[in-house]
Amino acid sequence: MCLTPEALRLLEGRGEEEAEKVLLALRGKEFIVTQELVRRVLEPAPEVQEEGRMELSHTSFKPLAAEVEARVEVLRDVTGKSYSRGEVKDFLNLFLDRYERLRGLLRERSDYADALPLRELRGMEEGELVRVVGMVAERRETAGGHLLIRLEDPTGQAAVWVFRGKSEELMEKAAEVVPDEVIGVEGTVRSGDKLPRIVARDIVWPDLPVRAAANRAEEPVCAVLISDLHVGSKMFLRGTFEKFLSWLEGKVGKASQRDMASRTKYLVVAGDLVDGIGIYPQQEEELYLDDIFQQYEEVARLLERVPDYIKIILAPGNHDAVRPSEPQPAIPREVGGRLYDLNSVMVGNPAWVSLHGVKFLIYHGRSFDDLASTLPGEGRNEVSSMMIRLLKKRHLAPMYGGKVAVVPEERDFLVIDEVPDVLHCGHIHISGLGKYKKVWAVNSGTFQGMTSYMRERGIVPTPGRVTVMDLQKNHPWVIDFA
Ligand code: FE
Ligand code: ZN
Repeated sequence: MCLTPEALRLLEGRGEEEAEKVLLALRGKEFIVTQELVRRVLEPAPEVQEEGRMELSHTSFKPLAAEVEARVEVLRDVTGKSYSRGEVKDFLNLFLDRYERLRGLLRERSDYADALPLRELRGMEEGELVRVVGMVAERRETAGGHLLIRLEDPTGQAAVWVFRGKSEELMEKAAEVVPDEVIGVEGTVRSGDKLPRIVARDIVWPDLPVRAAANRAEEPVCAVLISDLHVGSKMFLRGTFEKFLSWLEGKVGKASQRDMASRTKYLVVAGDLVDGIGIYPQQEEELYLDDIFQQYEEVARLLERVPDYIKIILAPGNHDAVRPSEPQPAIPREVGGRLYDLNSVMVGNPAWVSLHGVKFLIYHGRSFDDLASTLPGEGRNEVSSMMIRLLKKRHLAPMYGGKVAVVPEERDFLVIDEVPDVLHCGHIHISGLGKYKKVWAVNSGTFQGMTSYMRERGIVPTPGRVTVMDLQKNHPWVIDFA
């Protein structure tokens, strides 16, 4: 019996026990052992469970979505529009742009329409009530347990005091303030020494406006949301992913699930298609493909099985082969290769995409790392609540100088200056679903098992959970392929 190089590579990534299982199963039966044969032993025919028994579908599958024309519009994305040279003045412009646009959103609230420039606080009378909009330069707890927030705007600075024991609600709000975001503060002026001072009575975020209704598709089509495949990693769950592909092909699933598959017109992947190379220390030990081109080739081979009437939207994540600083342009053709030959639309991170008139904001989610380490009680497990905070802050990566590196483009692409219908993120490998002011916040989980990185940090992934958005009904469903 002899193994093809691909089969050998697959086995090498699996450890002794599984390799032995494969060799025992095939010995004496097969002369040439291909990758396909190895896979068949390791991951027997995909089936989806229905009421406790395994069922393969035998009825015919009629893809309704094949009769509907795709309506994809990339509304905004940095791809092809990156002009930054990364100079200091570019960063100043970036923050000015962020400030101006978020202040614009805050001013849409009637009470903040005439917010004062910080410069005007000087010379105001003690005790006068003011509203200001500023960028948070610093937030710290003082020795007395009060919170001090230093605000900046293009005209000056102010020190905002949040006194402990005055209002629980205000204290909680103040605890959610993060550096570099733009907030509105209502309070009374205190004559100060150097900086003008405000004693806070309320803190507000730009937030989402109240909307009558979300956008819906006219046709009964669905978008399937996934992310974080990490192809190339030994922990990539190929069997689970293939089961997912079989479902898209209409081969498995109970009636309601097959109905969703038949109406699926879009597949959106929110980054981390591959595990990449040199992303974290000793990564080589956890890779079964240590060549970035092969990793993308493998992704293309898998996605080839996606029925050709489905548009595939591919955005990058921090493991993909594009600049890691945000905004990230699309995975380039030189490395993405055959991904460009599929029925695909390559977009950047973040990207605003309209699918059948439903507005998606796709963002991989790197900023969750910074938020989780700064905000109180903001564990990775409350995925959707973190996404809702971003919606309230109207910014995808409010904190500067953490894990998220920023490219100072002429405008801040990470400002959420419009209202999406769906915010689709990944990155934390935990699927989650939330809704805030008629916006769905979907974290599409992963197809990667537990990595050593996650084990060390006590993160439990939820692989194989796929979110299906019914674009006509504006309703999501989660199917578990694990
Ligand atoms: Fe990931
Ligand atoms: Zn990621």
